[in-house]
Amino acid sequence: MKLILIGPQGSGKGTQAKLLASKLGVPHISTGDLLRGATGKLRAKIDSYIVAGNLFPDELMLEILEKRFSEEDCKNGWILDGFPRNLKQAKMLDEITRVDKVVEISISDEEAVRRLGGRVSCEKCGAGFNLVTMPPQDSEKCDKCGGKLVQRADDTEEAIRKRLEIYHRETEPILTRYESVKINGEKSAEEVQKDIQRELGI
Ligand code: AMP
Repeated sequence: MKLILIGPQGSGKGTQAKLLASKLGVPHISTGDLLRGATGKLRAKIDSYIVAGNLFPDELMLEILEKRFSEEDCKNGWILDGFPRNLKQAKMLDEITRVDKVVEISISDEEAVRRLGGRVSCEKCGAGFNLVTMPPQDSEKCDKCGGKLVQRADDTEEAIRKRLEIYHRETEPILTRYESVKINGEKSAEEVQKDIQRELGI
């Protein structure tokens, strides 16, 4: 199964992608995580885009993604989160593979800003929490490994607004390219997951 999850920042795409990936036995590929995990020469260049909330160049992004697709665990498919982000990326993706399903997770901008303001993740193991919607036991420590919880560099109000604006202008139009299913993301993570699985018939 090759599945794309599309939704604004804060819609819970990452959480839903992880749950779906373990249900389907395929990897969850987040292009944001791929960029944040990059090392070497690309590092400083990537940071200059991410911190400002701007998109990384399409060709370079595709190159990194194709490398990831070529790994062994992708042979039965993947759940893609964060790509394609615009029509050009959708066209590039269609040239290298065939997508089976596209799921749109929808939430309002107000809800996105509310959720992203509270988002934190563990510096050590990467586990994600939300001080508003999914609080850890201790607001500064990871429930799973005890690591320090930090806010993402691009979860400042200014960068959040810019990312939402880019989402509406550049990402939403790609939904016209695919036959997608639309899921209401303003429910609990469990309910959203159930709705997605029902729509996908899995
Ligand atoms: P995300 O974790 O999906 O919110 O992505 C964080 C940041 O990584 C974005 O604001 C972009 O700077 C960059 N990024 C992630 N995916 C892409 C993509 N498909 N194309 C370009 N830039 C991306």
